[in-house]
Amino acid sequence: MTTTSDASNAPQTADGRPSARRLLIVGPPGAGKGTQAARLAQELAIPAISTGDIFRANVSGQTELGVLAKSYMDKGEYVPDSVTNDMVRSRLDEDDARDGFLLDGYPRTLDQVEALDGMLTELGSELDAVLLLVVETDAVIERLVARGQEQGRSDDTEETIRRRLEVYAEQTAPLIDVYDKRGLVRRVDGMASIDQVTASLRDALGA
Ligand code: ADP
Repeated sequence: MTTTSDASNAPQTADGRPSARRLLIVGPPGAGKGTQAARLAQELAIPAISTGDIFRANVSGQTELGVLAKSYMDKGEYVPDSVTNDMVRSRLDEDDARDGFLLDGYPRTLDQVEALDGMLTELGSELDAVLLLVVETDAVIERLVARGQEQGRSDDTEETIRRRLEVYAEQTAPLIDVYDKRGLVRRVDGMASIDQVTASLRDALGA
């Protein structure tokens, strides 16, 4: 389903930017979260914060966190909540996240939802919207297998992809209900072209 609305009617801040600036982007592995997060964050002038990217940077840098994260990532399992929550807490404390952020890949568990609620309360702010990319499972498996071949990401093997999709269905899909009950979820068709998805997300924020 594509959300359509007239973005020109969207609530805006004094400088003309959309006021929805504390955002999550959610969807299964391969939904295109990273691609869309980068585009949207640039348009909104907010940082895109991807827990997967932060973990991968730590893996490359061979930090203690990276060594720990890799042992989970390569199996398609989630890094323990306490580790992930601490990492996000310190990232959200940085100056560039004060006026907004787009979190990609976090929260992924109910424990992380609670932790994020706590962080936002401490910061005196709250979420404006949760953008959900709706995609078909077969298509995302194909996308991820192709990405594995192109980029050599060590968790993009067919076996790990299947496990990641299972873990998503078990642990992350239930979060959508939680945010639906809060009236925050905006669903966007993630099967359209990259540009069309970006346009739909922009519209969804104007809604
Ligand atoms: P994808 O959404 O395609 O699985 P990500 O780059 O978002 O890719 O995440 C890759 C891996 O990083 C996950 O499978 C998991 O091991 C770890 N990870 C990322 N975000 C989290 C999180 N919020 N909690 C726990 N583990 C995470």
